[in-house]
Amino acid sequence: MDVAQRVAEQMPRVRTELAELVAIPSVADVRQFPAEECARAARWVADAFREVGFTDVALHRTADGSDAVVGSRPGPDPAAPTVLLYAHYDVQPPLDDDAWRTPPFALTEVDGRWYGRGAADCKGNIVMHLAALRALGDDVPVNLRLVVEGSEEQGTGGLEDFVPRHADLLRADAVLVCDTGNAAVGVPAVTVSLRGMVNVVVHVDALPTELHSGMFGGPAPDALAALVLMLASLRDERGDTTVRGVDTTQTWSGAPYDPEAFRADARLAEGESLLGSGTVSDMLWARPALTVLGIDCPPVVGSTAAIVPRASARLNLRIPPGTAPEQARDALTRHLVEAAPWGVAVAVETEAVGTPFLARTDGPAYEAVRGAMQDAFGRDMVLLGQGGSIPLCTVFGATYPDAEILMLGVEEPLALIHAPNESVDPREIQHLATAEALFLQRYAIQGRPTG
Ligand SMILES: [Zn+2]
Repeated sequence: MDVAQRVAEQMPRVRTELAELVAIPSVADVRQFPAEECARAARWVADAFREVGFTDVALHRTADGSDAVVGSRPGPDPAAPTVLLYAHYDVQPPLDDDAWRTPPFALTEVDGRWYGRGAADCKGNIVMHLAALRALGDDVPVNLRLVVEGSEEQGTGGLEDFVPRHADLLRADAVLVCDTGNAAVGVPAVTVSLRGMVNVVVHVDALPTELHSGMFGGPAPDALAALVLMLASLRDERGDTTVRGVDTTQTWSGAPYDPEAFRADARLAEGESLLGSGTVSDMLWARPALTVLGIDCPPVVGSTAAIVPRASARLNLRIPPGTAPEQARDALTRHLVEAAPWGVAVAVETEAVGTPFLARTDGPAYEAVRGAMQDAFGRDMVLLGQGGSIPLCTVFGATYPDAEILMLGVEEPLALIHAPNESVDPREIQHLATAEALFLQRYAIQGRPTG
């Protein structure tokens, strides 16, 4: 029986396993879910990888308090190359429970897709690894290492801190960072470019206390109105991001993102236009994008006829390869301070910065994955950018400068990761698990050091 068949036969088990994992609300934020949920998910992952032959699986506490599941599985030949498998077991919170059409923590099939928080990001990739390894059985021809982290979605950097301190534990010739997705269902892709990011919280302080909007409204400075003006200055009327001092003119040279596909993926209504002066790929992979993530101000219900004295906003600036995060953070901070009207007090706190990433694609692992994807999907693999960031890739690149880093996974655009109604297409798990198994076989030969 060939690898593709052995993966296909496992799909009922894949579904059972994914249902078990999705049922654990492993949101790595104790303000939202008890820490025990992440502990349960970590134990589930550790047990599952022990079962596929990882010998020394252990939980390693990282600097942010989360546990990374780390292990290794020596192959038959110590001279064979080593591959590190990556995923994360923590998930985004469900967000708006009412917006979910199925229970977020119960894997539910609708029209052939499996819905649930984490079904794609990133638990779908965990079960993909397991299916690939089981398809190979005892014949895994490379040396394997594993790390499944527990705080990726929080951006608190537990594993980023851990990797350089324990470099030997995870050292590999190729790293499969499985936390991205194909260009579309059935279109195999490896992601080679990631935007970095800067997250800040901006506070505006205009008055010591609320003032009656009838008695004072007009001349008195208004914190919320000031904040609205400041935020409005971060985009122009076309939708281009306009942070002074941040380049917004770069273009994307890899596979294009078809605008109609993007409209469908983003579920735009007819009549809504795409933003910005570049192509979809330019806007998404080669240029910065500013998003307002949240605003602190009185909610509609309970608000009174008063001028708001203080308001805050949480901002996210995505930055493309070529832009340094510290420089972007300084530019954003300066822009906000300069855009503040009426002498209101402004404070900008940096929450997190992440460096953009560009992979090297001329080595044996890329050659092996091209062939494996072609065999598994029956069509050529494309190279993609991704608008999001995986700061860990930069850390892997710096810690293992000779390693090839391949970003792939089951999170294609319809998966709606991070949003309500996240889902995974089981065919993607099946085909990618097949590709992963074939990759390990090919790379054992193509990645063998010569001479
Ligand atoms: Zn993820």
